[in-house]
Amino acid sequence: MQCPRCKNTDPSYFYKGSKGWYCRKCIVFQRAMLEEEEEAVSLADVKEGSGEYLLQYPLTEAQKSVAMECAEVMRHSDVLLHCVCGAGKTELVTASIAAMLKEGKKVGFAIPRRQVVLELRERLAQYFPHAHVIAVCGGHTGETDGDLIICTTHQLFRYTKAFDLLILDEPDAFPYRGSDVLHGIAETACRGHRIYLTATPDEEMKARVEEGSLHVLTLYARPHGKPLPVPKILRMPHVFGFVCLLKWLKEHAGKPRMVFVPTIKAARWMAWLLSLWMPCKCCTSRTSDKDQVMEEFRNEKDGVIACTSVLERGITVPDAQICVWDADSEIFDEAALVQMAGRAGRTMTAPEGDVLFLCRSYSSLAYACQKQLEEANAYAVSFV
Ligand SMILES: [Zn+2]
Repeated sequence: MQCPRCKNTDPSYFYKGSKGWYCRKCIVFQRAMLEEEEEAVSLADVKEGSGEYLLQYPLTEAQKSVAMECAEVMRHSDVLLHCVCGAGKTELVTASIAAMLKEGKKVGFAIPRRQVVLELRERLAQYFPHAHVIAVCGGHTGETDGDLIICTTHQLFRYTKAFDLLILDEPDAFPYRGSDVLHGIAETACRGHRIYLTATPDEEMKARVEEGSLHVLTLYARPHGKPLPVPKILRMPHVFGFVCLLKWLKEHAGKPRMVFVPTIKAARWMAWLLSLWMPCKCCTSRTSDKDQVMEEFRNEKDGVIACTSVLERGITVPDAQICVWDADSEIFDEAALVQMAGRAGRTMTAPEGDVLFLCRSYSSLAYACQKQLEEANAYAVSFV
């Protein structure tokens, strides 16, 4: 037996109810009966002219060549677009999206976080002015069919063999990473090929590249062409580390400064302690008004925020300076460190930034992150 939706084959998840067998592994997404082939929600045809697009900025030569190659390769293979943080992932897939829409084919774009779904819908609606671009996420589920469908990863359960191209953003992050159910649901939703977008592919993706079932395209440079900020690593006990942190905050006064810490408790503690010296905000997964806190932080332009890895992805604050406190904590993996460092130097107006890792003990991951960014910079130069 196999669940038609999440592809589960483990018999311990199958239960027999009054209407027949169903799968409990993916039951949070409505009950899937095993006997009935999941009926494909019939979607409307793609409107003619939907594929016309207009970018706000011209692509760099490097971006153009990756974007064009992607639009070719995705026709016959799944693609991993491995590009450094801030390389303009969305712009790299617009040519692929356009190519599909022009042929009347459906495109889905699945993203882990709801806020990013809404932002991306706005942006893609501008790029594709003739297409009906919709967002499907918590609070926006009234309309589920459009020419180009942007949704949270969880909402993919609504679609069965619906997409000729499915773009999965940050597949190495929660909730997609390690979730058999979401992997199965994404497979069910898509009838064509997939494009995975990430700066930090996980082992599973690297293994697929090795075995040849995933075609990798790499972009090492950001559009502004400046090297990625590489973290400085300092190792010392907490007391001295805190003195260093205060000094660092002072050095970068006048700019937005983000202090990443490993836990929610540490974020609250850090925000409280720093507020003895300067105003300091706090943002964690428990912060109820996250969007508002971030907007205030952006608007201040010289604020300080203590935060957890909840802000490690999908966030751009112009001219942000980054410090990771307890960068040797086992809570952070290499990908998390790369993503946090990747918050610096993202915009054309502020292409540089400072990244500081404060550790108490030797951390091979912190050094691995440093090396990874140095190598990306070296490759980027060798390509020019
Ligand atoms: Zn299932």
